[in-house]
Amino acid sequence: MPHLFRILVPDVYLENIYSIDTAKLKEKKNIKGIILDLDNTIVPWGTNNLDDRVLQWIEQVKQNGVKVCLVSNTHKNISDIGHKLAIPFLYSRYKPRRKPFREAMKIMNTNNKETAVVGDQIFTDIWGGNRLQLLTILVCPLSRSDSLGTTIISRVLEGFLLSILFRNGKIELTKGKWPN
Ligand SMILES: [Mg+2]
Repeated sequence: MPHLFRILVPDVYLENIYSIDTAKLKEKKNIKGIILDLDNTIVPWGTNNLDDRVLQWIEQVKQNGVKVCLVSNTHKNISDIGHKLAIPFLYSRYKPRRKPFREAMKIMNTNNKETAVVGDQIFTDIWGGNRLQLLTILVCPLSRSDSLGTTIISRVLEGFLLSILFRNGKIELTKGKWPN
């Protein structure tokens, strides 16, 4: 596969954040910190409707001894949500640039072998994470709405890319808990 493609392929593709078993992520993959996307990963785009399930999941992650840092390219709602979840947050960043990922690792005090990225977008979350050889976890977006820029630039290309990857067996949607 051409290099450009490889850097856009996540290590795993899951239905949502709840599929991630963070106890096993730590035990089997030695992951100690998660760089977590905001829009369409933990809240539907443009809202701050934080489901109780997200709060419970974050609580579980913390109890498992895994750190979390929110990193968003936008700024809306993030401080509210960061405070509610009691986790650090970085906003107005430019994923897939490496800088925000490095900043988050510095905050969590983890290195690239101990850090996972979780997000719904290949061209920001996955690309950026792969550039630093982090463990990359793609999740299905929570809603179909996106910022105008995202819709035009990313989603069409992303849909196209995903269809190629699926067709060539380079990616598959893993159902249920992961890792198992
Ligand atoms: Mg997102």
